[in-house]
Amino acid sequence: MRPPLTRRTFIAQAVAAAAALPLVQRPGVTRTRLILLGTAGGPTPKKTRAAPSQVIVAGDRAYVVDCGNGVARQLVLAGIPLVSIRHVFITHHHSDHSADYGTLLLLAWGDALKTRVDTWGPPPLARITSLFFEMSRPDLAIRERDEGRPPLEPLVHPHEVRRGGRLLHDDHITVQCCLVDHPPLPIALAYRFDAPDRSIVISGDTRRSANLIALAKNADVLVHEALYVARAPGTEGSALRRHVLASHTPVEDVGRIATEAGVKMLVLSHFVPGETPLVTDDEWLAGAREHYAGPIVVGRDLLEI
Ligand SMILES: [Zn+2]
Ligand SMILES: [Zn+2]
Repeated sequence: MRPPLTRRTFIAQAVAAAAALPLVQRPGVTRTRLILLGTAGGPTPKKTRAAPSQVIVAGDRAYVVDCGNGVARQLVLAGIPLVSIRHVFITHHHSDHSADYGTLLLLAWGDALKTRVDTWGPPPLARITSLFFEMSRPDLAIRERDEGRPPLEPLVHPHEVRRGGRLLHDDHITVQCCLVDHPPLPIALAYRFDAPDRSIVISGDTRRSANLIALAKNADVLVHEALYVARAPGTEGSALRRHVLASHTPVEDVGRIATEAGVKMLVLSHFVPGETPLVTDDEWLAGAREHYAGPIVVGRDLLEI
């Protein structure tokens, strides 16, 4: 038989239970969700992983980071309504991160998007946005007339980001960014999202970056790109191999970065090479584990963290 519950033990148990509960189960607090939409690195389509993208969902709003090919479909597969997209962040203008930037907006609009979307990324984001609308004019005009949709262009507000700092603060989330090192691109960005229940940092593409380590300081989750040097793509001495080695982060260094930043969880993504059989999950894990003792997740498409 259980001992009688005194007021003191009841309170102690209640406090312990509340501490153990995920925030989602605490009254009045909604858990901020992170879903990996695509986890391959590199411009070519892969059989086993989609192109890089992730979504953070806070309240009823979706904050999409990067728009690799197929991002709209990946959002649908993840069960995130396209009409919930409120902000889109582009880390840099490599096609694996940006190929479907305009397409995502177009398809969300085709799916009844009627509300404002702010987009963020390096220049020339505003020109890319307006050229996409120009290219899509025949479809936009027909759907406006034929289906009675509001014009898409006035809904989309591009912001060109040239330096690190705070980008926005709404009732769900604060977003900051920093410049990272991804030569030869003139500007590549990492983003940090601080919600009441957790903080999430997305590295984008970068070699080891002191700015990123500062941005990720004590974050709950760091999603970092990963390179397996021994199986890097391209032949020895080729331009492709040189770019990959100069512009990305070996998985062992990703572990070091996670330790230096003091993050509570490391999520590996943007795998180079990106096909699953080339490097196993255990190999990715072993590389990151060399210098990081905390929890490590080897990312896969549609994984929620
Ligand atoms: Zn990339
Ligand atoms: Zn890149």
